[in-house]
Amino acid sequence: MESTLSARDRVGVQDFLLLENYTSEAAFIENLRRRYKENLIYTYIGSVLVSVNPYKELEIYSKQHMERYRGVNFYEISPHIFALADNSYRAVRTERRDQCILISGESGAGKTEASKKILQYYTTMCPTRHNTHYIRERLLQSNPVLEAFGNAKTLRNDNSSRFGKYMDVQFDYKGAPIGGHIINYLLEKSRVVHQNHGERSFHIFYQLLESGDNSLLTRLGLQKTNPQHYHYLVKVNLKVYFSFVCFCERTFVMIFTLHIIYICNLLFSLSFSLSFSFSLSLSCHHYQGNCPRVSSISDKHSWKIVTKLLGVAGSALSEALTHKKLVAKGEEMISPLNLDQVLSARDALAKAIYGRTFTWLVQKINQSLVYYTSKCSSVIGLLDIYGFEVFQQNSFEQFCINYCNEKLQQLFIELTLKSEQEEYEAEGIGWETVEYFNNKIICDLVEEKFRGIIAILDEECLRPGDASDITFLEKLEDTLGGHAHFVTHKLANGKTRKAVGREEFRLLHYAGEVNYNVTGFLDKNNDLLYRNLKEVMCQSGNQIVKQCFHPDELIDQRRPETAATQFKLSLAGLMDILILKEPSYMRCIKPNNGKQPGQFEEVLIRHQVKYLGLMENLRVRRAGFAYRRSFEAFLQRYKPLCPDTWPNWRGQLLDGVSTLVKHLNYKPEEYRLGRTKIFIRFPKTLFLTEDALEIRK
Ligand code: ADP
Ligand code: MG
Repeated sequence: MESTLSARDRVGVQDFLLLENYTSEAAFIENLRRRYKENLIYTYIGSVLVSVNPYKELEIYSKQHMERYRGVNFYEISPHIFALADNSYRAVRTERRDQCILISGESGAGKTEASKKILQYYTTMCPTRHNTHYIRERLLQSNPVLEAFGNAKTLRNDNSSRFGKYMDVQFDYKGAPIGGHIINYLLEKSRVVHQNHGERSFHIFYQLLESGDNSLLTRLGLQKTNPQHYHYLVKVNLKVYFSFVCFCERTFVMIFTLHIIYICNLLFSLSFSLSFSFSLSLSCHHYQGNCPRVSSISDKHSWKIVTKLLGVAGSALSEALTHKKLVAKGEEMISPLNLDQVLSARDALAKAIYGRTFTWLVQKINQSLVYYTSKCSSVIGLLDIYGFEVFQQNSFEQFCINYCNEKLQQLFIELTLKSEQEEYEAEGIGWETVEYFNNKIICDLVEEKFRGIIAILDEECLRPGDASDITFLEKLEDTLGGHAHFVTHKLANGKTRKAVGREEFRLLHYAGEVNYNVTGFLDKNNDLLYRNLKEVMCQSGNQIVKQCFHPDELIDQRRPETAATQFKLSLAGLMDILILKEPSYMRCIKPNNGKQPGQFEEVLIRHQVKYLGLMENLRVRRAGFAYRRSFEAFLQRYKPLCPDTWPNWRGQLLDGVSTLVKHLNYKPEEYRLGRTKIFIRFPKTLFLTEDALEIRK
C-alpha cells in the first residue's frame, strides 16, 4: 500500500498526541497555526479530527483525493475529512456496526460543509446497487432544500444553519447507500418575525422572490424582487444565488412559503393601521390601563389572498387573531386582545406555520429517502449541530444550545472514556484511571425532574398570576442556591470572577462560564399559539396546513409541552440513537470573524480550543493508549519489517506480533499486548514504524 505523506504534509505534527509539550495550549495553537499557513486545515487528536475553516476553496476534495483515502488508516496518510468518513464506512462494512460522526463547532466553523463532504464521499465512493442512484441524488439534494428553508444569512455566517440536524445514511449489506433519514432539532423560527440588524430571514423567501415562477407570483399578487414590501424581511440588496433544485413538488413548496410571506405582509398592514389608530388613545391607555381593542383589518387585498392561501374563512381568522378563547368551568369565554397581544398572536401564528411546515418538509424528504426493495444493514449517522455559544448577551436559545453541548459531552464521556475502559478490561490490560471532569452534574442541574432549571422554568410558565422572568430567577435562586455550578448576582460568593447582572444567572459549564439573561425565558418557553388560532388552522382546506395542524391537538386537553421540555425530550431521543453507535468526532474551528482566508486570529481560536474541550481531550487521550490494532491487521501491515514474519507468519498471531515488535525494538513502556490487540501508547512509535515501512519501499 502506498503511503501518501509528503514532507509538506508533515508541517508541525499531524496528530496533537505527538506534541512534546502536550499540556501547553500555546504549543497546541502554534501547531494549528503552522499547519493552517500551509493550508493543512486538518489535524488529529488521536481519532478526533480538528479542522480550521480555510475560507477558500482547496483542491483537496476531488474524486482522486477520495480514492487516496479509501481503505487507508489514519496515520498512514495526511489527516482529512475523507479519512474520517472512510474509517466509519469500513467499520460498517467489516463489523456491521452502526457508526455516527459528531460534528461540532461554533457558527461559521465549517460543520455543514464538512457534513456535505462526508455525504459526497459516500455517494461517490460506495458501490452502487441496482436502481439506487436516485437515492444518492436525493441524499445530496436534501441539503440544498433544507438549507433554503432552514438557513439564513447571519453576522457570523452567510449560510448559517438555523436548526440542528441528524441524518442517518443507510447502507445495505454490500455497503451501498440505499436510503436516509433526517431528524431536525430546534429550528430558530423566530427568525421569520424578527432579524437582528444586518441579518436576514430564511433564504427561501429571497430565493422565491428573486427567481420564483413569474406568472405564479403575479397571479398571487406578489412583487418580484421587492422584499422591502414584505414586513418581516429585512431591507437588503438581493443577490441572485438561487440554485435550488427541488425534488418535492415545486408548488407545494411555493404555497408553503407564500403562506408566511402573506401572513407577514397582511399582519403588517393590520398592525400598522392599529398603531396608527391607537396613537390618539395612547395616553388614555397609559393612565387608565385600558386595553385598546382590535377589531378590524384594513388591507382587504392582502387579507383576501392570505385567507385563500391558508384555506380558512376570513371571519374566523380575523376573530381568532384579535380574540382569545378561554375555557373556565366548562364555559367558553371570549375576550378581546389588546394591541400587544394581537401582535404577539400574529408572530406566534407566523412562527407556528413556519416551524410546523419545516417539520413537514423534513417528513417529505424522509419519505423520498425510503428505499423499499433492499434491507438496511447498518447506518452512519451525521450530526451537524450548534456548538457552544457565548455572546455578550445570552438568552433562552443559548441556554438550550449549551445544554445540548453538555449532553453531547456526557455522551462523549460515556462512549469514549467508558468504552475505552471496557476495552482495556476485555483485553486484560491493566486500567490506569484517567482523571477527567464528568459533566453529569451540569446535565442534572439543567434537566433533573422537579429541581432542574427546565422543571423550574416550566413550573413558572404554568403558574397563573404574577409569574414573570424575575420570579423565575428568584425560584432558581431558592432551589439551586447551593449548587456548585449555579450563580446569580445574590449568590456570587466567590464562586466566579466575572460579574453577574441582576437579571442573569450563570452556569459554570464544562467548557466555561456563561451568563444567561432571563428576559424572555417564559415567553419563549411557552411558545403559545392561542387555541382559537389552532382551531381555525385545523379547519383549513389547504392540504399542507391541514397536515401541519391536526385536530387531535384540540381534543388533547393537556397543555402542550413547553419549548424547553420538547427540546429536552428530543435530545434524550438523540442520545438514545447515538449511544448505540460507535462515534467519531470532528471539531471545527473558525479562524476569524471576517470570513477571510489565511487570517488566524489567536484570541478567537484560543477561545474555541477551550470551549471545544480540546486540551482536556488531548490530555485524556495521552493518558491512555493512542492506538490499538488487532494482531492480524498489525502483522499484515508491518510483517515486511522483520525477516521472521516475512512473507508470512505461520504460528500464533500473538507470537508473530511479539516477534515483530521485538525486532522493531519497541520498549516495554511503549506498548501492551492484549488478548486480540496490540495497544501502542505513543503515536510516535507507530509513526516511526510507518517511516521504516516507507524507507523499505
Ligand atoms: P457552520 O455550519 O459550522 O456554521 P459552514 O459549514 O456553513 O459553517 O461554513 C461557513 C462557510 O465557511 C461556508 O459557507 C464556506 O464558505 C466556508 N467553508 C467552510 N468549510 C470549508 C471548507 N472545507 N473549504 C472551503 N470553505 C469552507
Ligand atoms: Mg451549519
